[in-house]
Amino acid sequence: MKKISLLGATGSIGIQTLDVIESHPEHFKLLAMSFGSNIKTGVDIISKFKPAFVAVKDKETYEKLKFEFSSNDIKFGYGDNALIEAAVYDRVDCLVNAVVGSVGLVPTLRAIENNITIAIANKETLVTAGHLVTEHAAKYNVKLLPVDSEHSAIFQCLQGENEKTIDRLIVTASGGSFRDKKREELHEVTVEQALNHPNWSMGAKITIDSATMMNKGLEVIEAHWLFNIPYEKIDVLLHKESIIHSLVEFQDRSIKAQLGTPDMRGPIQYALTYPDRLPLEKSKRLELWEFGKLHFEKADFNRYKCLQFAYDSGKIGGTMPTVLNAANEEAVASFLKGKIKFLQIEECIERAMDKHESIAHPGLEQIQEVDQLTRNFVQTLIS
Ligand code: NDP
Ligand code: MG
Repeated sequence: MKKISLLGATGSIGIQTLDVIESHPEHFKLLAMSFGSNIKTGVDIISKFKPAFVAVKDKETYEKLKFEFSSNDIKFGYGDNALIEAAVYDRVDCLVNAVVGSVGLVPTLRAIENNITIAIANKETLVTAGHLVTEHAAKYNVKLLPVDSEHSAIFQCLQGENEKTIDRLIVTASGGSFRDKKREELHEVTVEQALNHPNWSMGAKITIDSATMMNKGLEVIEAHWLFNIPYEKIDVLLHKESIIHSLVEFQDRSIKAQLGTPDMRGPIQYALTYPDRLPLEKSKRLELWEFGKLHFEKADFNRYKCLQFAYDSGKIGGTMPTVLNAANEEAVASFLKGKIKFLQIEECIERAMDKHESIAHPGLEQIQEVDQLTRNFVQTLIS
């Protein structure tokens, strides 16, 4: 029985993780969880799974929950410290980090220090401080298991292989909501259009990231850290069906790919069962004949500027990916609130990166400082 802590339980990955936990009660137990302020969904989850500890973002949500569950034996907390407490609660066996944004960084570091295996969906954590997370994981001999479908695919392709023989990682991309639009057509697109992803149903932030292609950029950085591969050996391939989740090319030109229907429960469950597998409940068999054809295109870096920014920031290294991530988080939040236009997201990121002098080998405090300064800069720019 694996004891699990789930950060971001009310989100898209969170709910699908709960589905996996619920379908294998003999294997998994939800011991601790967190969410932001979506109290309605939070209450449903707590009533059903009865975790021992629940962390929420703010005091108001915390007070309401304490009142709602006053007759239960459940412990509650709020704010940053509670998020950390949830991550390491009773030394769970596995932390599923499915929170959105760099708020997931410190809980991840603390969980690693407590020798807790990390199933990481929260890519912003690896982008903002990949060196800290991977160095920490190596120091404490803790596994970082990918949940993102592309990285799970690469990880699955690498089972039984010598990582030194990798020649190239090929990360596939659906192209997001605007993949059939030309760049000139992107000036006036709406939030509603951007939120309409053709293949995947996900949280708002990552859906916008998919439309700008920043999601793929963040994933390139995530792949660099998870698999310790230089950026020159990571390619992006447009593949609109999202059936091939990614590929690995080896030195002998053999290429391995991992395929599946677009269902995040697959990679979530693999991270929870690794190195074993379990049946995936209510899952549809992939029949390739139903597709007949799969399509592939080269990624165009002029069309998708955010992808270029991500490679640039990754290659510069130091605090530049922190700036990329923080500027993107702020710009996407503003776009979702209708404060800026779609193409202004990339403008915010470009301006923030242009202004920043990267600091090499930053520590946690420097990262947090740069993160905050970048957020302030972008907010001032927008207002
Ligand atoms: P959602 O927006 O659906 O969910 C985010 C979760 O985090 C919610 O539970 C939310 O709570 C919680 N949360 C948000 N802000 C805070 C905060 N400041 N403190 C505590 N909790 C907070 O996101 P997704 O599930 O789509 O994505 C989660 C992560 O997984 C992201 O990093 C994303 O890039 C990555 N990912 C997602 C995939 C997907 O298919 N969705 C695929 C691959 C990766 P509340 O609901 O109360 O606001
Ligand atoms: Mg992905």
